[in-house]
Amino acid sequence: MASTPLYLDHQATTPVDPRVVDAMLPYFTGHFGNAASRQHAFGWHADDAVETARHQVARLIGARAKEIVFTSGATEAITLALRGAVAARRDRGAHLVTVATEHKAVLDTCLRLSREGCSVTTVPVDGDGRVDVDRFAAALAPDTVVASVMTANNEIGVLHPIAELAKACRARGVWLHTDAVQAAGHVPFDVEALGVDLASFSAHKMYGPKGVGALYVRRSPRVTLEPQTVGGGQEQGLRAGTVNVPGVVGFGAAAAMARESLAAEMPRVAALRDRLLAGLTAALDGVAVSGSLLHRLPHNLHVRFAGVDGEALMTSLADEIAVSSGSACASGSREPSHVMTALGVDVVDRWGAVRFGLGRGTTAADIDRAVTLLAERVTRLRAMAPVSVGGRA
Ligand SMILES: *Cc1c(COP(=O)(O)O)cnc(C)c1O
Repeated sequence: MASTPLYLDHQATTPVDPRVVDAMLPYFTGHFGNAASRQHAFGWHADDAVETARHQVARLIGARAKEIVFTSGATEAITLALRGAVAARRDRGAHLVTVATEHKAVLDTCLRLSREGCSVTTVPVDGDGRVDVDRFAAALAPDTVVASVMTANNEIGVLHPIAELAKACRARGVWLHTDAVQAAGHVPFDVEALGVDLASFSAHKMYGPKGVGALYVRRSPRVTLEPQTVGGGQEQGLRAGTVNVPGVVGFGAAAAMARESLAAEMPRVAALRDRLLAGLTAALDGVAVSGSLLHRLPHNLHVRFAGVDGEALMTSLADEIAVSSGSACASGSREPSHVMTALGVDVVDRWGAVRFGLGRGTTAADIDRAVTLLAERVTRLRAMAPVSVGGRA
């Protein structure tokens, strides 16, 4: 009998909170105005709603409303941050610094920029998945225009020392962009406490709708970007195009709710995550955690099961539990995840990787069910292919 699988893939996306849906609905119909229409009440009402959402998002991250630029998602925000910085700082140089475990939205943007004549330094991570501050600082040069380091990794949940990295950048006049998609709304994230210059966010990773995100652009000291879309001059001239009013309203509502629930939710999901790891290690041998457990999102666990094919495991679980074999973007291909490669994880081991992303709806009963399922399937797959257990290619 087909029932809905247990969803433990909240790093890929989150369900939209019903209260967020309620907040959005009026902006599809009665209040459908274009926020840029200055001549009538339909436009004024939409514009008011967008400005309320701007304050809500700004408040979640310790920014001023003027520093928030709404976009179609984090991918667009990242593109605007990096390409916009390169184009605005041509007189300084054309060098970028990033990290090996960044999201593809960052890495592929850097790759394209390098084809267009920029130089890019990609700093490696240690076995814990973290970037070393001194190693990062050593990569910064007088012609470095922007550096990009994610706050939390989407596969292994590892948190980077952003405040220290920002200090190193500030001392050298380098702008620091952080992809904060997985951190915002889940752990404390404050642009002033961290000292970042640019930060990207996505609503659908924090119980808001898909297709809306934001870029934080620091006003003091001033960060000036070159827009990457032009036309109507919306979003302070940085992102032309009619604003997605219902989406932005939903993002604002999701940000306000995350701000309220964060303090209680963090220890709750951390306890469930610890219960998951304890359950798996009690039931199975050959379970390894990828990345630092200490410097980590409270709702993420990435484990590798020795001697198990990752895709076979995913297939055997798919009807009952929704997890990921790593990054959603890399699944489907047999390519090893670039994050696992950067960690130096063993070639045989890495195919048994499972990313668990816990969420607001996850209960202790869900965790216990996940442990039972995983233990059963891993044991069965190992019995089918015993030869690779603990083996090396
Ligand atoms: C999901 C994700 C993105 C892309 O966000 P979209 O809004 O879907 O474009 C970027 N970075 C990280 C770390 C992500 O998890």
